[in-house]
Amino acid sequence: MIYLDHAATSPPRREVLEAVWPYLTQVTGNPSSSHEVGRAAKAGLDAARHAVAEVLGARPGEVVFTSGGTEADNLAITGIATANPRGRHVVVSAIEHPAVLETASALRESGFEVDVVGVDGDGLLDLTALDAVLRPDTTLVSVMYANNEIGTVQPLAEIAARCRAFGVPFHTDAVQAAGHLPLDVGELGVDALSASAHKFGGLRGAGFLWVRGVVPLAPVLHGGGQERGRRSGTSDVASAVGTAVALHAAATAREAEVARLTSLRDRLIDGVLATVPGARLTGHRTRRLPGHASFCFAGVGGETVLAELEQVGIVCSSGSACAADSDDASHVLLATGIDADLARTAVRFTLGPTSTADEIDAVLAALPSAVQLAGR
Ligand code: PLP
Repeated sequence: MIYLDHAATSPPRREVLEAVWPYLTQVTGNPSSSHEVGRAAKAGLDAARHAVAEVLGARPGEVVFTSGGTEADNLAITGIATANPRGRHVVVSAIEHPAVLETASALRESGFEVDVVGVDGDGLLDLTALDAVLRPDTTLVSVMYANNEIGTVQPLAEIAARCRAFGVPFHTDAVQAAGHLPLDVGELGVDALSASAHKFGGLRGAGFLWVRGVVPLAPVLHGGGQERGRRSGTSDVASAVGTAVALHAAATAREAEVARLTSLRDRLIDGVLATVPGARLTGHRTRRLPGHASFCFAGVGGETVLAELEQVGIVCSSGSACAADSDDASHVLLATGIDADLARTAVRFTLGPTSTADEIDAVLAALPSAVQLAGR
């Protein structure tokens, strides 16, 4: 099986499994307990928090461990917007993941105004439109670092500068970027950042939200006051340890891995555009995630192409894994100006640590006939 769906989920790294095992079998206390067994667990949790903060160039106390990207996004959007006394106005981009868009919708239901800023044909945020919607009562801007469906990487520093000029906190969903792109929050200029461990070799159901210390954050989960009152619930020490080990491993390997994946990605993109009639790349040609290649194949249903590819042992996705069972055209592709019919032909290949040049060549050999068969 050739697995090219790493943006949906990537297998845990071996070193993650090795680091997690003792926390499932030996160091099994509750880190909130004051006895020795609890203190041992707390030491593991603290070390994990330090390790994550180090990669972000942040303070450990600013890291909130969560059950993944969805919870981190919910906590960021709701927690920052509602704690900010400036007003009740929120800004998001049109191509956010549902974890952000649906949370913004829920805020709208509760009386917030939400402005949705569009993107250009490559998926890059319309900065002029952003300037036009920022207001003195804006409580939060949320724009993702890199898009899951089209791979486009946003100019975070430029967006951050605009938010800073307005004194508005800036959150970024870095779920697809973490492990692939620089994460130093000082350099990025963001005030809050969400990440999900299973996208960079950690465990599913684990992740974190980083929030700059000066930014007020209201909790979404109420209870025992864990994570400094920002996320109640008994801490999952093993998952936090796995998240930290995965993030560190990804950061250490990042430079070489980005070069390797970018070259494989470009080979795939160039090959597909040259050999598959009607193929169109979605997202920006170069300002995109290193291992991300996404296309539309005019007139050919994306799901049918996936089925043909699976017949020959290649698995990928039709855009976003979350929307795979929905017939609706992708809101991301529609936002880039692609019409609904073409949007339904989307196919996404996302590469990861296991991907090789031989696999890319196998895709390039199989795809023209898969698209042809799917089009019959
Ligand atoms: N944000 C983006 C951009 C994603 O791609 C995903 C998952 O695919 C999420 C958020 C949700 O993350 P999780 O699966 O950890 O809840």
